[in-house]
This record gives sequence, structure tokens and C-alpha cells, in this order.
Amino acid sequence: MGDDARICSRCVLPHSPPHIVLDDSGVCSICREHEKKSGAKQTPLLETDFINILNRHKGRGSYDCLVMCSGGKDSTAALYYMKRRYRRRVLAFTFDHGFETEEAVSNVRNAVEILGVDHLYFRSDHMKEMFADIVRSGSNAVLCHVCSIWYMQVTFDIARRYDIPVIIAGWTRGQAASRDASAGYSYNGRQPEFAAMAAATRAFLDDYARRNSRYRDFPRSMDEAVARASKRHRCLVLSPHWFLPVDSDSYTALLEKELRWKMPSESYPARSTNCMLNFLSVHNSMKHFGYTHYHVEMSKMIREGVLSREEALDLLKVGFEEKVLDSVRQRLGCGLSAT
Ligand SMILES: [Zn+2]
Repeated sequence: MGDDARICSRCVLPHSPPHIVLDDSGVCSICREHEKKSGAKQTPLLETDFINILNRHKGRGSYDCLVMCSGGKDSTAALYYMKRRYRRRVLAFTFDHGFETEEAVSNVRNAVEILGVDHLYFRSDHMKEMFADIVRSGSNAVLCHVCSIWYMQVTFDIARRYDIPVIIAGWTRGQAASRDASAGYSYNGRQPEFAAMAAATRAFLDDYARRNSRYRDFPRSMDEAVARASKRHRCLVLSPHWFLPVDSDSYTALLEKELRWKMPSESYPARSTNCMLNFLSVHNSMKHFGYTHYHVEMSKMIREGVLSREEALDLLKVGFEEKVLDSVRQRLGCGLSAT
């Protein structure tokens, strides 16, 4: 994003028509839309709601919930809460497409050992070629979105295999579209802020599936992946962070103390993600769209009053170096291209 890029004066989204448009006072269309709706007050989600949902959906097999745990602070906190605070029978699941950092994996290992929960660790190169093709072709498809589709498919498959009624994600409030928890799954792919990215990813996947029979059936969006998976196994996807009014600094301190959790040294946004591919995804999104899915998520948190604009701008500063991108490109077998 160039210096002249205009950013909304309330959130951190840039002017990017037709889906995000800044008005004369410098406020974006998403913030204006939110303003209109906030007349109709949403009832806040309460922890008691969460507990009620969990009580209604106890597992018939060995587990009550499957916790997606990447080793980052949000998902490790989710794992901690499910086991220690809500005393559920937990299966932890770590998905590694080959780009998880050592630090992240070690965070997960410490957590499952200290908490004494069962753990599935899935590491696979299955999609490496597609990731590489996205990078090589200069496509504007979003690496993180393609990866999430794959990740959710595998997660639902495991939930079905062990007949687990609730999938727990470490998603923050910015990563939840719907405040209606009873609706279960509420990924935010349908928001207008994501429209351009979703269309780019879909176009790439349509074309890719035509040329690669191995990916013929690969879902073109997260909605499609979830709709398909839900036909085979009904389950809720929830995050304790939607219900618990605890800020991330407090639970980070808790994890450091109780689970020997360590902050990743290299991360984008700051103090957050621990996947190396993420750096390339962020770099590409900035290049093609002028913002990333993190800008969308944090903007949402700003509107909900759980994050300040200054804090978000600080976390979203792109500080990683070209050599980080090059090492990821090399691991993908894409050489040292300078774009
Ligand atoms: Zn805005």
C-alpha cells in the first residue's frame, strides 16, 4: 500500500471500491453500515450461554470437543479454557502444512503434556504444489484462505471420525461474523470486506480444478467446505473468546505461567500468527488488495470496541524482511523471485 492510500478514520480498512468506499469525512462504508445497524442493540454473548451450549452438546464418544490448536496464543488459550475452566473431555488437533514454526509446535506439545489431553498432530505436504502454483503464477488468490479451506475439511473429518459434536477454534471476536452462537458456525467469508479476496480465491480454484484432476472436488470457498462437511457430520464451531471478556494480554500471561508458552519471535500481525506461509500471504494481499484479512478482523474488533485503532495500526505494521519471504519461497521451491 502506498503512502497515498487512504485509510478509514475509524477502522483500518483502505479505500478499495467497489466493496469498501470512504466517504467525504473519511469514514468507510463498512463503518457506516455498522453505524446504521447499531441502533438495533445486539445482546452480548455471555459465558453462561457458552456453558449451556456445551452442556447441550456432550460427546457420545470419548470427547466433548475437538480443539484446533496451532500453538498461537488464542488457540492455546482456547485449549486451556476447555480443559481447565470448562472441564470438557478434549481432543487437541494441530494442523501443520509444513510451515508451522518450531516454536509453535513446541508450544502445543508443552500445552497438551501439561494439560494431559489427547492430541492429534497432522503434518502434510499435500497442498504444497498448489501453494507454489499460486506464488509462481502471481495469482491474487489468498494463500491463507485456501489453506483454511483445507484445514477445516480435515478438522470436520476428524470430528466425524470421533463423533465429536463441537469444534473449538481460537477465533477472536474479529474472526466471528455472527454473534448468534446458536447458529454454530459463523466464519466471516460473506462480509463485503472479503468479497474481492473471496472472488480471487474462487477464480483461481475454478481454473486450478479444471487443470488438476487431483483438486477437482476441492471446495471453492470456506462456506462450501463447511456446507459439504456439515452434511456428513453435524457439529458446532465455537470459540470461547466470543463469550469470555478476557483480553489477550491477560491470557498470554496465564499461558506463559501455566503452560510454558512462548511468544513467537517472528510474527504477523505482531505477537500473533506462527505460520511461515502467512508472511507470503500477507505480502501478496498487501500487493494485490492493499489490505489483509487481518485488517478486516481488527477493523471488526475496533467497531466492537475490543481493540483501539492505534493498537491495531501498530500490530498491523509490516515489519518482516524480504529474507523471510525468500526463505518461504525457497521452501515452496519457487526460488528467489523479487516481487
Ligand atoms: Zn471503517
